[in-house]
Amino acid sequence: MEVRKGIEVAGIVQGVGFRPYVYRLARELGLAGLISNTAAGVAIEVEGPAASVETFLRRLPRELPPLARVTSLTVRDLACDHNAEFRILPSRLGAESRALISPDVALCDDCLRELFDPADRRYRYPFINCTNCGPRFTIVREIPYDRPRTSMAVFPMCPTCQREYDDPGNRRFHAQPNACWDCGPRAELWDAEGNCIETAEPITEAAARLGSGAVVAVKGLGGFHLAADATNTAAVEELRERKRRVGKPFAIMVPDLPTLEQFCELDDFARGLLLGPERPIVLLPKKRPSPIAEAVAPDIRELGVFLPYTPLHHLLFADGKFLALVMTSGNLSEEPIAIDNLEAVARLSALADFFLVHNRDILRRADDSVVRASGGRVRQLRRSRGYVPVPVFLSEELPRVLAVGGELKNTICLTKGRHAFLSQHIGDLENLESHRFFAEAIEHLERVLEIEPQIIAYDLHPDYFSTRWALAQKGIERVGVQHHHAHIASCMAENHLEGKVIGIALDGTGYGTDGNVWGGEVLLADYESFERAAHFGYVRMPGGAAAIYEPWRMAVSYLFQHFGEDFWDLPIAFVKQLERRRTKTLLKMVERGVNSPLTSSCGRLFDAVAALAGIRQKVTYEAQAAIELEAAMGGGSENSAYPLELSPDGAGWLIDTKPMFAALVSDLARGESASLISRRFHIALIEVFVHLATLLRDRAGLARVCLSGGTFQNVYLQEGLVARLVAAGFEVFTHSEVPAGDGGLSLGQAIVAARRFRQK
Ligand code: ZN
Ligand code: ZN
Ligand code: FE
Repeated sequence: MEVRKGIEVAGIVQGVGFRPYVYRLARELGLAGLISNTAAGVAIEVEGPAASVETFLRRLPRELPPLARVTSLTVRDLACDHNAEFRILPSRLGAESRALISPDVALCDDCLRELFDPADRRYRYPFINCTNCGPRFTIVREIPYDRPRTSMAVFPMCPTCQREYDDPGNRRFHAQPNACWDCGPRAELWDAEGNCIETAEPITEAAARLGSGAVVAVKGLGGFHLAADATNTAAVEELRERKRRVGKPFAIMVPDLPTLEQFCELDDFARGLLLGPERPIVLLPKKRPSPIAEAVAPDIRELGVFLPYTPLHHLLFADGKFLALVMTSGNLSEEPIAIDNLEAVARLSALADFFLVHNRDILRRADDSVVRASGGRVRQLRRSRGYVPVPVFLSEELPRVLAVGGELKNTICLTKGRHAFLSQHIGDLENLESHRFFAEAIEHLERVLEIEPQIIAYDLHPDYFSTRWALAQKGIERVGVQHHHAHIASCMAENHLEGKVIGIALDGTGYGTDGNVWGGEVLLADYESFERAAHFGYVRMPGGAAAIYEPWRMAVSYLFQHFGEDFWDLPIAFVKQLERRRTKTLLKMVERGVNSPLTSSCGRLFDAVAALAGIRQKVTYEAQAAIELEAAMGGGSENSAYPLELSPDGAGWLIDTKPMFAALVSDLARGESASLISRRFHIALIEVFVHLATLLRDRAGLARVCLSGGTFQNVYLQEGLVARLVAAGFEVFTHSEVPAGDGGLSLGQAIVAARRFRQK
């Protein structure tokens, strides 16, 4: 019996080889019908023997092209029209607008094979791509996504490329960046002043210069990298010096997994992450001894590693035979990454000796994404290239919200229907240079997603750039969202939770409703509102932001709070090494409350403990002391916690750190190791939050716990707390798709604002 079915598919189904896939599947099964792009995705009709149509429907969602993502698939019956062929109908302009744009995709295996096949017409062509791979998000100017609206518009296809592009049976059918030696972009090697160096082999030349210790700026997918041979200590140190980056680890690109295994611990899960089409930087435990220069990632246990993701990267490794290249963002300290050739020369000429550039414009900045595997899941630390603009799928329809995020590691979020679109990593808005990027990212995302927001959500901190920007927008509803409430809501949204939860929000800084600096918070929260159920007892932050860069200040502040002037007599190295005059000035600030805000920050508590344990008195990048304190733990077996006590505070509790500092000081006086101190401290945190969750379960009848905030990038703390809470009968929810840190804040802001708006 002949049947005809109509199938509507929504999701990422355009620009990812979906139509040729359906075409081939239908033809293989001898089915007639058609496929076309629609506003929401694609519409398919298939006609033929009932059994074959059944097979088609079964196989369709199972054998998707690698980049396709189906969010909904509906089937209905149609009348047969007895037409024998299967046709791909042209899409109407504007019809593709509501479909989702694909993120940038790493070079696929088929293209990689062609790249190194001397018989292939694209042999060693640095811009080879197909429908399954290549640039997407970073070359889109406007939608619908097709060539004239990308930066490939200036490269008319040669007849051979055009034939591939038009042939539904070809891997390059409608591959918008399709190109070859005859018609596509070209690479060039420039000197530090931007003069082109005459050579037929710019990539080989660049590799040779890297090999002799030079720093080369390499144009990638979402911006420039600064590259240097990662096994060459002098080159790496030179790059640090020029970039004015003291201790923050560099990521390294490694040609393949066997090479990587020489210097990192690797399991199957991490292998999958490294090989995924997103090609993120994955943090992996270092092996020792290592051929990688210590200066790449000093004083920490992990290396950030990734595999080549553009053909140009593959060629660089093929020609240079490197074990690893440092590939760090092409910028000075925390500025936005450079994307334009001339801009790169202007901004990076003091940093790079050479520039490996090309003439395919990058229209959107996108830094490399950074992830880690823990608890059997991927954890986003920086969600950017390869993931953006894949939406977070929500459990309900939301109004159109623009959430502008926080101050550091900023991202913005736009919602529409059941989709929350987080922007690429925008960076630290303390930087003037980032302000323009912030505004551009908003403008671009609104345009390509066709979202005109009804509501703007922002952080309560009056001095954040994003807050000031939000408040300056006129004629639109604006909703302020407390920082830690946004963190917990972000975790809830990603896990599709409804109702009230116990939220444990731990981070460095977030503006509290009392005007103090919060950061060690237990909330009872739903999307609409929250109640502050517990927090660390307040302590002064001497010098405000200066205390973030100088953990010793927090240690002094804690000691002074708990021991008064007597702390001077404590028999510990930390006190003996204090500069008396500076410390006295500091104490005066604390006593008078001058430029010394009160904080309940967990990050600052980490800082104090790290400073006391002798790990770090000053930091050169955010959370450095906490990261090194975790690393100092090593593999000891000590399992006794420091005592953290709870005292009633209104309807909730205060976490009193005094008994902990007393015990910690005795450990120090006895000469106990930093490793032991770190371990007892971590266990203390786990114990106290399990205790608090239990108290709140008894009081409020809640058994679901959400963990959020930058402190949960601490693997030991997160895994330990999850295990203990689960053992105590809680259902525990953590972040995976969006960062636990401030990079995930905008998602929480968006959903809180949407709910409050709807309530009105
Ligand atoms: Zn490909
Ligand atoms: Zn061509
Ligand atoms: Fe935060």
